[in-house]
Amino acid sequence: AAYFIRLAGCDVGCHWCDVKESWTHSIDQLMSVEQIIENVLASKADSVVVTGGEPLLYNLDYLTECLRENNIKTYIETSGAYPLTGNWHWICLSPKKFRQPLDIVFDNADELKVVIYNKTDFLWAEENAGKVSKDCCLYLQPEWDKREEVLPLIIAYVKESPKWKISLQTHKFMGIP
Ligand code: SF4
Repeated sequence: AAYFIRLAGCDVGCHWCDVKESWTHSIDQLMSVEQIIENVLASKADSVVVTGGEPLLYNLDYLTECLRENNIKTYIETSGAYPLTGNWHWICLSPKKFRQPLDIVFDNADELKVVIYNKTDFLWAEENAGKVSKDCCLYLQPEWDKREEVLPLIIAYVKESPKWKISLQTHKFMGIP
């Protein structure tokens, strides 16, 4: 189990985005880092996934410092479109065609997760795989609404190119929001 921190705000603009409600934010959504840490510690989770929206719209140095002080593992999922801040145990880079990732995020990614929406995305996935470090884990993930169409293509692709693994949005299969 992991505790998810979903930060509001994103201007990447993926047309298939499944969290469009995260794109905007308002003043009444503000929460202090101290309150966030309190909420994390009240859960039994020993790790936190920071996502969005696009979490790197914000400087995350202080948040990750406070999490680490409390022995919480820090994971981030980002499009890589903004400067890398924070001190992370694991960085998942999920690049989007609509806004290119920065080199600093390619260089530091532990995991590259490419969402496959149509056939041409395999070529784009390979282009991105050429920019990450040799130790970076490579994942292909079917876009949820296209999964019946693209999952068979992904399975066939991974059989031919086993450097890739398949990533599934398991929380959706389990009905976890
Ligand atoms: Fe949605 Fe993520 Fe794309 Fe932003 S980067 S539009 S949150 S899928």
